[in-house]
Amino acid sequence: MAAKKAQEKTYTVSNPATFEPVATYPLMSPGEVDQAVKRAKAAFPSWSQSAISQRQAILKRAAAVLAENAAEYARQIAAENGKTAMDAMLADIFSTAHLLSHYGKKLGKYLAPVKVEGTLLFPGRKTYYVFEPKGVVGVISPWNYPFTLSAGPVISAVAAGNSVVLKPSSQTTRSGLIVKEIFVKAGLPPDVAQVVTGSGSHTGDALASHPGLDMLFFTGSTEIGNKINVKAAERLIPVIMELGGKDVAIVTKNADIDRAVSGTAWGAFTNCGQTCIGTEIILVDKSIFTLFAEKLARHAGGIKTGMGCGEVGAMTMDSQFRLVIEQLEDAVAKGATVLAGGKPEEGRTGRFFPPTVLTGTTPDMRVRTEETFGPLKCLIPFDTVDEAIAIANASEYGLSASVYTRDPKEGKALAARLKTGSVNINDALVTYAVPSLPFGGVKKSGIGRYHGAIGLQAFTDIKSVTEFYWPLKREFFWYPIPKETETLFPHLMVMMFGQKAADKLKAAGSAVRVAAGSLAARL
Ligand code: NAD
Repeated sequence: MAAKKAQEKTYTVSNPATFEPVATYPLMSPGEVDQAVKRAKAAFPSWSQSAISQRQAILKRAAAVLAENAAEYARQIAAENGKTAMDAMLADIFSTAHLLSHYGKKLGKYLAPVKVEGTLLFPGRKTYYVFEPKGVVGVISPWNYPFTLSAGPVISAVAAGNSVVLKPSSQTTRSGLIVKEIFVKAGLPPDVAQVVTGSGSHTGDALASHPGLDMLFFTGSTEIGNKINVKAAERLIPVIMELGGKDVAIVTKNADIDRAVSGTAWGAFTNCGQTCIGTEIILVDKSIFTLFAEKLARHAGGIKTGMGCGEVGAMTMDSQFRLVIEQLEDAVAKGATVLAGGKPEEGRTGRFFPPTVLTGTTPDMRVRTEETFGPLKCLIPFDTVDEAIAIANASEYGLSASVYTRDPKEGKALAARLKTGSVNINDALVTYAVPSLPFGGVKKSGIGRYHGAIGLQAFTDIKSVTEFYWPLKREFFWYPIPKETETLFPHLMVMMFGQKAADKLKAAGSAVRVAAGSLAARL
């Protein structure tokens, strides 16, 4: 975490690429979190009743504010996270503007009442369901894509008519504050989306434990997600959990090798490998393994570390930097070979670690089972695709995966067998960037989805409604239940659920006769 100061009332964030201080923020107390939740609660009734068109206008304006200030915001995100401004622009800012504009266009459609088929037993009813905002949503976000992973759930919650309290990672506080800034500039009432600043154990815990929340959205490690899920369960509030991953790319013998090399390298090393849906394990068909390994070693070896466009930025957290070194040392001690990278440049300022590829890894190595979340990747040959699928599905995680093949039949078949929340065929990370695709994981990678229609509706309570206006004083099964009803039901059963057409027709005739007889008494 960022350094704390002055009786722990503030904390200072340093730039991971230079170690220079960037900014100091208040370490908010549980009391301040309580005030924020209370303000959000007070803002809810009015915002929840706001017209969809008003929300759409705000979402579109927020996208424009983001676009107009994109370069400056990218610089600010890079300064606290250590990623390059290009990484911030592409994955944090562009993807968020895209989501804002997507919901800006589609909100009316996604939140429109859904008419559904009624049933013969209840003729004349209108049957539909509606999406109603839940109330106050708590959002807790990580440091790796600090802007988009804060903005995404806030956008969804606010668009669905909720108010929000966001706790960004302390290291990337400014990214959380930018979310609020763009919304306020776009005209959102300030208390509808608030930010509380501070550490996870202090400010984050106060938010996650707050009895005033109606929903919790957490993005972060599986370990903390588990704890927060338990807290939410005690209060019976719904959660969406976006947690860790150990994503696999499968490169079959039918792959375009050059695309597979550059695709897996990008999936593995973008954002310095600190990507929840980043490729961690590259499985390659044995028949093309040597060629693939040579090309990947050359490609990865050619990617420079630094803060320029096309370079791999600095690792954000010291703990992650040390974890990468530990996993690398463990693997090498147990017999793995370094194919590319392997050592940070001596004496260099900043947490820069070169893109590193290992071969000869075995399942007992930490790098094979633990999430790495850094620029250290395993390259593994396989004999059959069954073996590749078995390796991929053995993971306790199930966030995303890639398949590289030129054969669409093979691609779809492998995608169907992977136990993950998403799969990219001949691509990496794309599912997150398409705002209409639901995003989330299975197994220990998470619970629930956001993005798209389903992901927006996840921030609502679904209410089913029936409407009926025929001039009937009572139903044929209400008290006092008429004698005919007893006769009617056997006919009705055959008519509705029987399989033989002749029996159904006969039962329908009888049912209509009995029903007509009882109708007069009910008018
Ligand atoms: P983390 O779990 O350490 O922290 C996430 C957030 O939780 C931070 O804001 C932190 O301050 C807060 N927090 C920590 N302890 C808390 C507590 N006791 N109560 C309440 N809040 C608390 O995760 P991180 O290191 O910031 O992020 C890296 C992890 O996030 C990786 O495991 C990565 O895979 C995962 N991640 C998942 C996704 C996804 O979409 N599935 C996306 C990005 C990152």
